[in-house]
Parts: sequence; structure tokens; C-alpha cells
Amino acid sequence: ANELMKGKRGLIMGLANDKSIAWGIAKACADAGAELAFSYQGDALLKRVTPLAAELGSDIVLPCDVTDMESIDALFAALEEKWGKLDFVVHAIAFSDKNDLRGRYVDTSRNGFLLAMDISVYSFTAIMQRAEKLMEPGGSAMTLTYYGGEKVMPHYNVMGVAKAALEASVKYLAEDLGKDGIRVNAISAGPIKTLAASGIGDFRYILKWNEYNSPLRRNVTIEDVGRSALYLLSDLGSGVTGEVLHVDAGYHVVGMKAIDAPDM
Ligand code: NAD
Repeated sequence: ANELMKGKRGLIMGLANDKSIAWGIAKACADAGAELAFSYQGDALLKRVTPLAAELGSDIVLPCDVTDMESIDALFAALEEKWGKLDFVVHAIAFSDKNDLRGRYVDTSRNGFLLAMDISVYSFTAIMQRAEKLMEPGGSAMTLTYYGGEKVMPHYNVMGVAKAALEASVKYLAEDLGKDGIRVNAISAGPIKTLAASGIGDFRYILKWNEYNSPLRRNVTIEDVGRSALYLLSDLGSGVTGEVLHVDAGYHVVGMKAIDAPDM
């Protein structure tokens, strides 16, 4: 434990279970002394999120479906009433129809495209519209992205297009909110076996590929992501905004592995 986040209050969005990237980030923040609130999507997740929140000393567990603007309004109204101000926000939310995460990108339907863009891209902007009003200079927000937004990855399809748009929105948000001293960043995480990832075709193969080809020769964990999130969310990252930080065991720097690499 350390005191990096002492006195800071943050909202964690996108916790589904103890495999969630949001859980890795929440644990790191709580361990550093932050006070946390959680939002969950749908009644079924309430019974999962409540005990996890309690484990980190939080009893603020609020519903929010990001496709419903009134639900986002209600979340921020509740936070304003409880806390008055907000120091950090973690957006760990994405969704696309399972059928769009296999086969060809070119076959994406209009509805599938709009759904992925709405939940995985626009939601972060909608959230920052509301969060901005509760944040003071020194505030920090982050979202999660994936390398499939930069390069073509098997089966990532419409979600890759959504992540490219999300990363662009991080830059525009950083500029808008930077005037008020609020920072906005993203972590581009390597593949991790979570509920959302299980929808992606051949995910086990993707994990193996990353393990063999990344400079660290392993996959990353939600704890790895949590530690880097702490840097972006705390004052350690005070000079950093609009950034996409790769927490992927270095995978994104490799063009090609040598054929005689000793571990091949
Ligand atoms: P997860 O399934 O644990 O979390 C996804 C969350 O999104 C869930 O809590 C779900 O309730 C929430 N969500 C979906 N639709 C929603 C809606 N309409 N309203 C509110 N919440 C909604 O999976 P995860 O892998 O931890 O995903 C978190 C983020 O990390 C996502 O943005 C994902 O794209 C990103 N990411 C994941 C990986 C990976 O390999 N797992 C890699 C890079 C980036």
C-alpha cells in the first residue's frame, strides 16, 4: 500500500467480475488510498459488484447503462449529492454484437456498427460531459483501448474501428478539458481473458501469439494494467494528457521476431 491516491475520490465504470480490467484498476487505486464509487450495468451485475466494492471499502454502487443518457445523468446526480466533487474517472466499457467479432469486418451491419460506436466510443464523451462539472484542476480520467484500433487484428473488426475512434476522442477530450486542468488518457492493454474478451473469436490463439511475440514474452495481467492506471490517475502523471499508454508487454513495438530467437 502507498498514499498516492489519499484524499482522492474516483468513479469506476465497467466492473463485471474479479477478472475485469476495472477490478485491477480499482484494487490499485484502493490500495493507494483512494475512495471509490462503482457503476454497474443491469440488475444481474449488482450482486457481483456489491461484494467486490465492499472488499475495497466502498458502499457506493450505482446503476448506469451508457446507452441511456438519463441513466448517466442519474449516476452523476447521485455522485454530486454524495461527494460534491470527483477526482478521477475510469471508463472500462465496450460492447459489440458477438456476430460482429468473427468473420469479416466488411460484413458489419449498420446497427452493429452504431451499437459498437455508441457503447464503446460515445459513452466516454457523454460521461466526461457530466464528470467535467464535478472535477477540479488535477482531475484525471482514463479509458481502455486495444492495439486492434491501430493495426488489423483477427476478429476484432468493428471493435477495432471503435477503438480508433475512442483513441481520437481521448485526444479531443484532452484538449477541451485541459483548459480546466483535467487530464484524459487511455491505456492500450494487451489481451486479457475477461468476460468481454471471451466474445472475440480465437481469443486463446491471440493470447498465445502475444505471449510468444512480445518483448517480455508473457501476457499482461489486470494488476499490470492497475499499476499503470495508477500512474495516469495520480499526480505521478500530472504532465501527461491525450496519451495512449501501451501496457502490452511491449507487443506494439515488434515488427518481426528473428527466426533464430533462442526461445522459438
Ligand atoms: P469486462 O467484460 O470485464 O468489462 C466490460 C464492461 O462493460 C462490463 O462491466 C459491462 O457491464 C460493461 N458494459 C457493456 N455495455 C455497457 C453498457 N451499455 N452500459 C454500461 N456498461 C456496459 O471486460 P474487460 O476486458 O475488462 O473490458 C474493459 C475494457 O477494456 C473494454 O473497453 C475493453 O475493450 C478494454 N480492453 C480489453 C482487453 C482485453 O483483452 N480484455 C484489451 C484491451 C482493452
